[in-house]
Amino acid sequence: MKMTKGQCLCGAVTVEVPEACVHDVSVCHCNMCRQWGGGPLLAVECKHDVTLRGEENVTHYCSSEWAERTFCRICGTHLYYLLHYLLLETQTYELSAGIFPDDRKRLVSQIYIESKPDFYDFAQQTPMLTEQDILDQFNSNS
Ligand SMILES: [Zn+2]
Ligand SMILES: [Zn+2]
Repeated sequence: MKMTKGQCLCGAVTVEVPEACVHDVSVCHCNMCRQWGGGPLLAVECKHDVTLRGEENVTHYCSSEWAERTFCRICGTHLYYLLHYLLLETQTYELSAGIFPDDRKRLVSQIYIESKPDFYDFAQQTPMLTEQDILDQFNSNS
């Protein structure tokens, strides 16, 4: 499998994931993501296929019962969002799209669209999901 690497600003933390994972970028407009990052979160999903190096520099913040957000303790780069959602069989990593090279990336979905404020919009046409749509998807998969 072809792998690709990403890293934080200072380079203390690096991640390696299957290259195919980082092409599809999803946007989360929820209030928590926007407060965390100053804007919507652009993330790529890699299930649990993630090799972390420099893990001693990763700070974890439990932002809710089912997820934690992590960042480099030295440079503050947001690294990933780890879902422990009870309905998922394994942990799922949602990694910050910004830590990976940009070639072949495309925007594939936008979630928590009901939380998006009016002052910005993405020009790309993508599926737009509400929180309820996401819950319905989880429920129909289980
Ligand atoms: Zn760093
Ligand atoms: Zn969010």
